[in-house]
Amino acid sequence: MAVRTGVSNGVAPAAVSNVLFARAEAVMPGGVSSPVRAFGAVGGTPRFLAHGAGPWVTDADGNRMLDLVLSWGPLIAGHAHPYVVERASAALANGSSFGAPCELEVMLAERITGLIPSVEMVRFVSSGTEAVMSAVRLARAATGRRAIVKFEGCYHGHSDALLAAAGSGVATLALPDSPGVVPGAVADTHLLPYNNLAAATELFGRIGDEIAAVLVEPVAGNMGVVPPVPGFLEGLRALTRHAGALLLFDEVMTGWRVHPGGAQALYGVSPDLTTLGKVMGGGFPAAAYGGRRDLMAQVAPLGSVYQAGTLSGNPVAMAAGLATLELIAAPGAWERAERWATEAAYMLCERAQARGIPLTVQRVGTMFTPFFSDGPVGNYRDARAADGIAYARFFHAMLDAGVYLPPSPFEACFTSITHDADSLLHFERAVRQSL
Ligand SMILES: *Cc1c(COP(=O)(O)O)cnc(C)c1O
Repeated sequence: MAVRTGVSNGVAPAAVSNVLFARAEAVMPGGVSSPVRAFGAVGGTPRFLAHGAGPWVTDADGNRMLDLVLSWGPLIAGHAHPYVVERASAALANGSSFGAPCELEVMLAERITGLIPSVEMVRFVSSGTEAVMSAVRLARAATGRRAIVKFEGCYHGHSDALLAAAGSGVATLALPDSPGVVPGAVADTHLLPYNNLAAATELFGRIGDEIAAVLVEPVAGNMGVVPPVPGFLEGLRALTRHAGALLLFDEVMTGWRVHPGGAQALYGVSPDLTTLGKVMGGGFPAAAYGGRRDLMAQVAPLGSVYQAGTLSGNPVAMAAGLATLELIAAPGAWERAERWATEAAYMLCERAQARGIPLTVQRVGTMFTPFFSDGPVGNYRDARAADGIAYARFFHAMLDAGVYLPPSPFEACFTSITHDADSLLHFERAVRQSL
């Protein structure tokens, strides 16, 4: 199959993808296994990806594209890194799953607890959704309280109690975000605006002694990248500690993305519980929740808080995760991925400025989002006020120029240790064509 760089030679550049999508739509809702993949936010039909190597992906029509989605974050070592392939293949050949303890789990648990000091013990699960859902159960059991607090625009997986981001204003009680989530499931979920410590203080003043946990993405990534304002995380730490509530950092995205020790290392704020996923599975389904030893000791079989999983701690996923964490720990590797993100963000800003286009690029570590907005984005309301149509236009222009961006303005772009000088030049050319 000929490899083209997003150039239409009079042939529909996505003919094969279009045919595959029609087949997919007949047998899968919306033709996809996860909603945002369907290009609903940007229009058009999704590309079917057939191959990945380093920072590049090739679609079913043979178009080669620079990938800034990286499976929504996990592939910080790039696609099919030879070392990850080798380690995962060796684990696979050795037996794909045992449903019994294996050494690879211990190795990954030791590495995670070594890198993230607040995480003294971990329990492995298979998805970020499962990790957060289980951590909330633990927080409620450990405190004997029901209420949980989340922030608008933060995503914590699709479990019922957390599928609530609707409502606006200050300290509204959450409304379900999806049919099928009964009001009772979110009756104890309180919703606050991100980066608004005054609203959190007000809520704690009223019902602080009913709150089991505050859940927060310490750098929001699921409304586009929105960093915490100075004092926000520190303030949540103080409020929860004072009220006997737990602070839960959902680092499923930020873990190893904003800093090799997670957002908690970057900002120096220590949560009671942490959820991890994405990068730690190296492209396989693996996630974890962990934290203070006295809390994790309440998880079964050591304690009475039940949680289990047939494929949890899967050896192939553990091996891929370990290999990935080893690769980014090599001297200068993680910093390379960060530098690429810095330079890409700079190029975007410079080009937009020269062309008089309102654009604000927000970056922390190896993740960034271009918001078509002329001021900083500090919360979900700001994110929604950015120009989504301008983003969709930019997305398609970049796609035509051979750069695969997230197909939604509310997502982060990710880089990897394989994003190099060549791919940066390719990116720069695409930006000059698109902005
Ligand atoms: C991706 C994500 C999740 C959900 O993880 P899945 O593996 O998709 O279930 C939860 N929280 C955050 C912050 C995420 O970015």
